[in-house]
Amino acid sequence: MFRRLRILILLLILATVATTAWRTERHLRSWRSTLHVAVFALNADGSTAARDEVHRLEKTQLAPIADYIAAQAAAHGMDLTLPVRIETGPEITTLPPEQPASGGMLAAIRWSLAIRYWAWRHTPETSIRPDLRLYLLYHDPERNPRVPDSAGLAKGGIALAHVFAGREMAGSNLVVATHELLHTLGATDKYDPATNLALHPEGYAEPWRKPRLPQTQAEIMAGRIPLRGDTARIPASLAETVIGPATAREIGWSTDTH
Ligand SMILES: [Zn+2]
Repeated sequence: MFRRLRILILLLILATVATTAWRTERHLRSWRSTLHVAVFALNADGSTAARDEVHRLEKTQLAPIADYIAAQAAAHGMDLTLPVRIETGPEITTLPPEQPASGGMLAAIRWSLAIRYWAWRHTPETSIRPDLRLYLLYHDPERNPRVPDSAGLAKGGIALAHVFAGREMAGSNLVVATHELLHTLGATDKYDPATNLALHPEGYAEPWRKPRLPQTQAEIMAGRIPLRGDTARIPASLAETVIGPATAREIGWSTDTH
């Protein structure tokens, strides 16, 4: 009985959150005004490497994300002067609740609400109220060669990107961050979760290229450059990725809606 009541309350909260989020997402995907993205860095593993990175993080390091989205929008025929503006906020010291490894849909719903609550509680004020919030969770690659999955809440305006400290990781970190940001705008993954390989054609930068493999770039929501058979490479920078037509449609870059 109580369990049912709890589930009902949870679903009611979710329905309210979802309605508001749906309206917000529709507004964002209209691209009528500049989207303000606030970026916050966190030391995810308590390491000195991550701490140094968090303290070093500057707006200029993230500028390529805004330039990339502007260039990709232009490539899709969108006439947007400044689609995205990035601001960096102060460091956040309280880590977000961990994503459940399993537990089904209820656990996932609970986590998505917990993340929203965490973001509401712990995100410092910034000069402009952000449309999207990007949290960069830094890890020391020496300590953690594998990091938790990153996540972009499709209807929450919240992107959590698990990234690595170190100058040589800066390029691939931007790829991860942009991928998660695009999730918040409604983009879906374009890889097979069982193999991590890009789906054809929507997950390929040049799906009709002959020969099809190796590709030289990745579709950003596929996240990997297909090389041969079952081999793929993680792009080293945004320059090695593109926003493909399927992702462009999902985030509202469709010329017929304008
Ligand atoms: Zn994804």
